[in-house]
Amino acid sequence: MSKPESVFLASGNKHKIDELRQVLAPLGIDLKSVLDFSDAEEVDEDQPDLEGNAMKKASFWHRKTGLPSLADDTGLEVDALEGAPGVYSARYAGEKATYDDNVNKLLNELEGKKDRSAQFRTVVAYVTDNEEMIFEGVCRGEIIQEKKGDKGFGYDPVFVPDGYDKTFAELSSTEKNKISHRGIAVRKFIDFLK
Ligand code: IMP
Repeated sequence: MSKPESVFLASGNKHKIDELRQVLAPLGIDLKSVLDFSDAEEVDEDQPDLEGNAMKKASFWHRKTGLPSLADDTGLEVDALEGAPGVYSARYAGEKATYDDNVNKLLNELEGKKDRSAQFRTVVAYVTDNEEMIFEGVCRGEIIQEKKGDKGFGYDPVFVPDGYDKTFAELSSTEKNKISHRGIAVRKFIDFLK
């Protein structure tokens, strides 16, 4: 496999784009994204698992742009809830749910439960003319009883990663990135490119 000149990221999330652009630049790889398209279409995330959604988005954008394309999907998987909210993490409390709505629903569901262990799991799919690859990153931890911290997003204020006594929302983005599900999956992808 030769290193590509450009990679397409199937995301319009500026934070994700900037983060990946920074790690690809030293490899001489330019990052394009959904933001470079004025007529960007939404790809429905309607697959039953994270792998399906990530592969669907990467394949769609590879067909559209002809570029090697990357897409990610992340879920919070709670052991006592049999892996929920999982692939439904963004809309756990309903289609228009805010981060706060989702966290509140999670805390309600876990009320009275002893086992509060959980993991974040990110799946990164990479599609080129001749390959389809999946890279996975997992970060295990525990859901605490009340929100703590104001950094990050999503379920960060209630997730304490194993070996830490702070939530993701109390860690700096550099600290979080070192141990996070997304950080791990992206580093696996970068190692593959190298
Ligand atoms: P996405 O696949 O990155 O869009 O993530 C789906 C949903 O999972 C988001 O809407 C968040 O609720 C949650 N999520 C993803 N990554 C994180 C994270 O790093 N911390 C907390 N919540 C996250």
